[in-house]
Amino acid sequence: MSVQIYKGTIVTSETIDTLEVYEDAYLTVEDGVIRSIGDNIPDTYKDLPVTDYGRSLLIPAFSDLHIHAPQYHERGVGMDCLLFDWLNTYTFPEEARFADTDYARTAYAQVIRDLLRHGTLHANFFTTIHYDASDLFFRMLQKSGLYAFAGKLNMDMNSPDYLVEETEQAIADTERFVAEHPGDDHVKPILVPRFAPTCSEKLLKGLGRIAESYHVGVHTHLVESRAEAAWAAELFPQYGSDGAIYEGCGLLGHGPAIMAHVIFPTEVEERILEKYDVVSVHCPDATTNITAGIMPVRRMQKQGFRIAAGSDIGGGHHTGVYTQAARAVQLSKLKEFYEPENERLAFANAFYMATAEGGSVFGKAGRLAPGYRFDALVIDSMENEGKELTPLERLERFCYIGDDRNIRERFVDGRRIDPEEVYRKMLGC
Ligand SMILES: [Zn+2]
Repeated sequence: MSVQIYKGTIVTSETIDTLEVYEDAYLTVEDGVIRSIGDNIPDTYKDLPVTDYGRSLLIPAFSDLHIHAPQYHERGVGMDCLLFDWLNTYTFPEEARFADTDYARTAYAQVIRDLLRHGTLHANFFTTIHYDASDLFFRMLQKSGLYAFAGKLNMDMNSPDYLVEETEQAIADTERFVAEHPGDDHVKPILVPRFAPTCSEKLLKGLGRIAESYHVGVHTHLVESRAEAAWAAELFPQYGSDGAIYEGCGLLGHGPAIMAHVIFPTEVEERILEKYDVVSVHCPDATTNITAGIMPVRRMQKQGFRIAAGSDIGGGHHTGVYTQAARAVQLSKLKEFYEPENERLAFANAFYMATAEGGSVFGKAGRLAPGYRFDALVIDSMENEGKELTPLERLERFCYIGDDRNIRERFVDGRRIDPEEVYRKMLGC
């Protein structure tokens, strides 16, 4: 049995509204799982060495539930475009490059390294339509230490002719991908139709059959913007709404359902979110960059819907999902300013999205509590010389102005992870 003992100030979500703080506490980890947190070390471990992190904070690892891995090289570029210009000018040509697996290896190795640097230790990815690059990415993830969902992207219509699948082939390739990548404790396959307007009903129904046969979940965009939702409803009049398309094609109820954006849910979408325990993903930078609107996060949280956080790279430009916790508070204040019936988020509500809610998709993760995996970060105190901050102020400041240089340690399953070492391993895949 392997046991580690850490001392420091621990901050973790207790509920969606409250953060729990343990100052100068001891945290014991047994075989990668947290055994105790408190003022004392359990008697059985009294003689073991203690790693003391001083005024640094021990916090749960972050979870990014919506990231387009192949868009990593285009983040922060073309941000003054509207969505369809941005897709056609930057995104689709960049994704086309993933036909070349050498290019994919280099790009994907950097994505994985940088997520680890920024403390994202659980992630849910989009890839591209290319089988070989998606297969490579899945194998890289399995060697990275990350907890992840990934699959092969699907799109067979309303897409550029250099980046579109033939329907029957798309279904066959996706079934093969799922069959050949059953995954393991850390990395699991997921179905990834880009969004309804780029997928035919035949393709979506084919994916629905794969979901049912292989018990896999789905990751896509849902009511991302008013224009997208209206286009989807026009293309699929037999279903009438974005959410009803995925439900009608049989994609829901076979595994996790993770839906990015969900900015304008109708009653139909709300019924679907509840029925299938959907995790909606708030991506504040991206919804600003593509002028999609502001998700009614606090209202949806209060209705009991599950909402996690996502970087949505490259629609979003920040790698660290902790920045999205801060941005979620900012956007909620703007929403409250323009629409006073929408209550703003407290910082605790936003931190919960980026850790506890997102982490819950990956097993006992996203919190620091007995029985949870020790998937955690050690971050700097973020204090200026001569002025002390409370633990909650230190955490909030990290999310607002911190970066990867303020993250001193990263742990997955209780084991230390070195992003540079993982990067070298990735390049050898
Ligand atoms: Zn997206």
